[in-house]
Amino acid sequence: MQAQFTEKERRKWIILATTLPIGSVLSLIHALVTFQRGELLGGWASLLFGLAIFILFGVIMVKPHLIPPVEVVFFFVIASYLLVMTVQSIHSFGARWPGGSNSFLAELNAIVLWYAIIYMASYLALPSRQYKQFMLISLSSLFAALLYHLIFQNGLHAEVVLLWARSLFALFVLVMLITQTGELNKDYLTRDDLTGAYNRRETYAALYRELQRAERYQKPFSIILFDVDYFKNINDTYGHVVGDNVLKKIAAIIKRRTRRTDCFGRWGGEEFLLVLPETDLAVAGAIAVKLCEAIRKERFETINAVTASFGVETYSPGQGLEDMLHAADNALYRAKENGRDQVVISGMDA
Ligand code: GH3
Ligand code: MG
Ligand code: MG
Repeated sequence: MQAQFTEKERRKWIILATTLPIGSVLSLIHALVTFQRGELLGGWASLLFGLAIFILFGVIMVKPHLIPPVEVVFFFVIASYLLVMTVQSIHSFGARWPGGSNSFLAELNAIVLWYAIIYMASYLALPSRQYKQFMLISLSSLFAALLYHLIFQNGLHAEVVLLWARSLFALFVLVMLITQTGELNKDYLTRDDLTGAYNRRETYAALYRELQRAERYQKPFSIILFDVDYFKNINDTYGHVVGDNVLKKIAAIIKRRTRRTDCFGRWGGEEFLLVLPETDLAVAGAIAVKLCEAIRKERFETINAVTASFGVETYSPGQGLEDMLHAADNALYRAKENGRDQVVISGMDA
């Protein structure tokens, strides 16, 4: 019962899809500058590096499931590039130092930045790595680059501009990574891995918040509890992977049709709960009917059609959380008893 595209993979995908094209463009520009300086080895290395990571980018765009091998090739390409750049730098060092050029330091600086980027990439590949250590190395690389330019820079020539572009690139990756990681950590805590719906704890919290708001401000709010019909049959006949895909697809159908302010949670195995703020019974009933229809009309892989049964309950003053859930559960039970694939509104069918 595993999600087919996990958060870890998604994280890698985002980082690769952003770093590869930017790194590629920067490397191609770097190649031009290096050729202009007459440094053939460095120029060719940058050119090939830029092209290689651009091709890798193309591969993951077309076939995202190829990320693991792409990553291996990516690290290999970066390692080769760094090797050639180091050789090139030592060569420049011999030829120019101490003749006044800062070429060696410039290259060294660029290499440090690239190491920072590799470190970030490996952090993504291995989330168990120490977060602080990663931050420290990345930030100190950037700080080193800044110091270098403050102390040694003489005039704003192409090389310096390029190095700053690389520095900003590293910074960009870093910022993106931090925000992304924060979001992901929040998602890990609050969302169900398989369907992306809120987990039971978070749904319960949303329900509790709404109940308090409703009590205090006399606002309406409703809940919809629904359960996939004959889901056990789907699992038993076609296997758990097909069952999992049905749950994912149903979650996607619901998410597409609900408001941002609604809370959509996975309540149990194949049971979901929607918390609808500012929604009275009539509107909640209409939403449930719409969702029930949407699931019925959707075509699923392998099994074609799936249905679900819905129970709807709205808040009435003095009602507790468990009372509401119990009423929704009763309505759902009656929807099942009445033949499934339907909506029962609490207190309206008896
Ligand atoms: P009904 O129409 O009365 O709801 O029948 P049902 O078969 O859907 O109900 P039942 O509660 O007997 O079956 C629920 C099944 O859902 C049992 C459990 O193995 C399966 N299930 C729970 N969580 C998951 C999941 O994450 N993935 C898959 N594939 N199956 C799950
Ligand atoms: Mg069921
Ligand atoms: Mg069930």
